[in-house]
Amino acid sequence: MIQYHVYPGGLKRIVTFSFDDGSQNDVRLISLFDKYRLKATFHLNGKNYIGKTENVKAIYQNHEIACHTLSHGWPSRMPNASLVTEIMRDREILEKISGYPVTGMSYPSGSYNSNVISVMDSCGIEYSRTVKATNDFDLPEDFLEWNPSCHFKSAMPLAERFLRDIDSQWTKPLFYIWGHSHEIRNEDDWEETEELLKLLANNNKIWYATNIEIFDYISAQKMLKISADERIFYNPTATDLWVEKDKSKIIKIPAGTRIIAD
Ligand SMILES: [Zn+2]
Repeated sequence: MIQYHVYPGGLKRIVTFSFDDGSQNDVRLISLFDKYRLKATFHLNGKNYIGKTENVKAIYQNHEIACHTLSHGWPSRMPNASLVTEIMRDREILEKISGYPVTGMSYPSGSYNSNVISVMDSCGIEYSRTVKATNDFDLPEDFLEWNPSCHFKSAMPLAERFLRDIDSQWTKPLFYIWGHSHEIRNEDDWEETEELLKLLANNNKIWYATNIEIFDYISAQKMLKISADERIFYNPTATDLWVEKDKSKIIKIPAGTRIIAD
């Protein structure tokens, strides 16, 4: 029996963060993320970044820049044509800054419905985060409706549970924390935020990833070809992949290779 629940480095746990809207606080927050070698995604509104290429690129270089629409309306209240413009113009501005295709998003004001989701694919958006806390550690069934574990202001008890159960085969793999850096208002808030990062950092059982790195890895895993007797593995992607065989053996299938694993 093969199971997919193994991530880069053969690890079984993932921690990711995302912060919406962009603010001056992102600079200080990112310095903490870099200090603790954690990864985050920053969902930005392009209208605030027109013509600001170089400086913004340097701030976010170790993290992911992703869409949050051009001007932060309510997607569920927009005609489709308006929503398409809001996303495509945001992408263009953010791609000029980042230098890579920006295909991640979070719904501004957490606003979405089935119609909004149906527009995402036409705009080249691969995942979009909601604001519905699961208080659990699920991977999303639908990446266009990616519910986070919790907001960062209430993450401490969940972080403790995640770490306590880190070796349990019953616990789900992904701890996803979201928020806004502008919610960090005073030195007490900064201290609390740093405590959370410190608690989750430097754990050799956790893969620290941006949102899009998780999407890309899971997507690549689904491309894996496995023989019926589960001995031959072909990885046609450019990403090293890992799977678990018979609940005991972790198998690495390097990018672009075919291997035999008994
Ligand atoms: Zn927002």
